[in-house]
Amino acid sequence: MKEFWFVVGSQDLYGEEVLEIVAKRAQDMASELSKRLPYPLVYKVTGQSSDQITRVIKEANYDDNCLGIVTWCHTFSPSKMWLTGLNMLQKPYCHLATQYNLEIPNEEIDMDFMNLNQAAHGDREHGFIGARLRLKRKVIAGFWKKDEVVERLAKWMRVCVGVDFSRHLKVMRFNDNMRDVAVTEGDKVEAQKVFGWEVNTWAVGDLVKEMNEVCDAEIEELYRQYLAEYDVNTENTDAIRYQAREEIALKKMMDANGCKAFTNTFQDLYGMEQLPGLASQHLMSLGYGFGAEGDWKVSAMTAILKKMGENENGASAFMEDYTYHLVEGKECSLGAHMLEVCPSIASGRPRIETHHLGIGMNEKDPARLVFEGKEGPAIVVSVIDMGGRMRMIVQDIQCIKPIMEMPNLPVARVMWKPLPSLEEGIECWIHAGGAHHTVLSYDVDAEMLRDLANIMDVEYVHIGKDTKAEELEDKLLLSDLIWKLK
Ligand code: MN
Repeated sequence: MKEFWFVVGSQDLYGEEVLEIVAKRAQDMASELSKRLPYPLVYKVTGQSSDQITRVIKEANYDDNCLGIVTWCHTFSPSKMWLTGLNMLQKPYCHLATQYNLEIPNEEIDMDFMNLNQAAHGDREHGFIGARLRLKRKVIAGFWKKDEVVERLAKWMRVCVGVDFSRHLKVMRFNDNMRDVAVTEGDKVEAQKVFGWEVNTWAVGDLVKEMNEVCDAEIEELYRQYLAEYDVNTENTDAIRYQAREEIALKKMMDANGCKAFTNTFQDLYGMEQLPGLASQHLMSLGYGFGAEGDWKVSAMTAILKKMGENENGASAFMEDYTYHLVEGKECSLGAHMLEVCPSIASGRPRIETHHLGIGMNEKDPARLVFEGKEGPAIVVSVIDMGGRMRMIVQDIQCIKPIMEMPNLPVARVMWKPLPSLEEGIECWIHAGGAHHTVLSYDVDAEMLRDLANIMDVEYVHIGKDTKAEELEDKLLLSDLIWKLK
């Protein structure tokens, strides 16, 4: 079971009685918070010496189930004792600047109370050592029972789950990137260094061989699962069964090789009748990442964002900006892909359809899921290779119910208004170099991706309601200089 460790700071100046109260309250807070958080927060120690703190941090580094540490100082805790330990910390670190008591008790307050309840004082000393050591850390301030504080801690935990997942992620590629495309390219060694992704290639021929070994009973079982989850709006059930064959083979190959994400390209479908459409979509709904046209960066990010979402398989999908509606007052962007949008973001029950697909080597019409995306606030994220470093670009968007039916559009679609506005949002995105491929997520927000980028030491660019294109240009220029110096 994945968990987080609660490490509390104090010192021996106040006597045993105070230390016992601190330990009891820390235990109390950890168990109360654990009831409201997605992962347990386990109280470990009230640190009073360098040896003690160093020991617990070494244990945290070594323990695969510990995904991060949360620190807090109930009393004052001189930070020199944290130096050796924090300097060797390899796990994500959150400083929860909170206080056990909500109020200053007017009548009761005396010097004993002050010595016991001095987080305002202790957390500043603790914050200094984090700044002095230039540690990557999350700082969350506020009363520990307050909804917003618990929610932010929960989100940070989900980020750490994403970090852990990313560091073990293997991406299976079939063939290379789409010919001549620049933004989907990248340095796979750099990606493995910063994100941990092992990105390797397999032959399409191996997949075809695996497909040929799939038996009818397996296909029928998955076919029935499709019928349970989706409506069928086609007579061409052979195409649906063919997609089932592709999905089973893809899943077997990924599982056998420990891969949780994959890419393919319409330019290499040798031995296959159809580009995987429904197959890729259903695999994504199971938590596998996907990137079309060989886009392994977006494939990895799709898997990670899904993992960071609700129940570790959230509403996040591979997406592509397709076309704009530029009518004044109704501006929006239409996102889709030629087949492969994850049904986790569908507003209703998806339907299976078959249509001709002119692009690529399709001999037969591929089956795919068609649906509309949900309404609501969301983000799109793109990771690009700037040469020597990765840049993560996140834009806040507002998804809307599509303002037209588009009855002849044969693919899943999402409509949204980018922030700060369509036009300025496009200008910002283009200045930052964001790709046409993104991950669209309703579950993961910009703050979470900022934390993810921070933990992994990746450049982060956010475009939101207050972003101005001109200011962003200046920020990008400065950021470029800083990252070249790093
Ligand atoms: Mn594409």
